Amino acid sequence: MLTLSSASILPFTFPTWGDAYTAVTGEPASSQSVFALAEISSAAQSKSSTSETLSGKQMSVYIIDVGQGSSTLFTTGDNSILIDAGENDQGGKVLDCLNALKINHLDYIIGTHPHSDHIGGMDDVLKKVEVDTVILPKVPDAILPTTKTYEDVLTLLAEKKIKVITAAPGKSYVIGAMKLETLGPVGEYDDLNNESVVSKISFANTSVLVSGDAETAAEKDILKKDFNLKSDIYVAGHHGSSTSTGKAFLAAIKPAFAAISCGENNDYGHPSASTLQKLKDKGVTVYRTDLNGTIVFTTDGKNIAVKTEK
Ligand SMILES: [Zn+2]
Repeated sequence: MLTLSSASILPFTFPTWGDAYTAVTGEPASSQSVFALAEISSAAQSKSSTSETLSGKQMSVYIIDVGQGSSTLFTTGDNSILIDAGENDQGGKVLDCLNALKINHLDYIIGTHPHSDHIGGMDDVLKKVEVDTVILPKVPDAILPTTKTYEDVLTLLAEKKIKVITAAPGKSYVIGAMKLETLGPVGEYDDLNNESVVSKISFANTSVLVSGDAETAAEKDILKKDFNLKSDIYVAGHHGSSTSTGKAFLAAIKPAFAAISCGENNDYGHPSASTLQKLKDKGVTVYRTDLNGTIVFTTDGKNIAVKTEK
């Protein structure tokens, strides 16, 4: 089903990739794979997408290596979306990536949930980059955090008068050539991980699902909704923990690729052997920031190419 082509017949170019990559990492990119998604991109995958590529346009997805944490950037050049910004000490890393790509404006930032490994670096980004809208989950009062990290973000959002939207399941937003759908959280939970904003970003026939730290309870509630979860790329829930990526959820997403964002030798044992096995059983090609550094997927809406830092 998947065909691996040699890099010399790359069907499209990485815009500013070489320069951006070198600026971010100080090293040339080391590996590159190109995949044709002929059969993966079924028409059912994205109801509103066209069957053709968007001529001349492409979307890049950066799984930024922020150690033990998560930060994912989507950009078409014209429009950009950032999901999470890593720990408090990783804001600079995220900004380095944005600067290297000459992105000084983000259409949307999603803070999946108020844990420091996701929103810690967000204040740094909000200080330096123009942001139109921020999407946050509605957090039940009983588990509302009182951390300085969360306070820093809320204070900046108020100071800068940035529009804040509460994530609503089933809501979609057209952002230039990208479509963002928020799929969760669907219910109310007693822990912050399950309150994670789960989103799907589509670009023509290609789509990416990012589920923050949502665990199986939240995944099951999303599955009860009639959402089309099918996505080519899955940014694995909760850093590849055994508490996420339930079998039914994975079967509904049916990804060709998974990206796991986790720190080298992290204290949590992320990713879990059971999650890796589940992905392997489904034939999913897995990339990990602890092993591969920053991971970049680029798509013309039909084909997907992957580059990793190491
Ligand atoms: Zn996390």
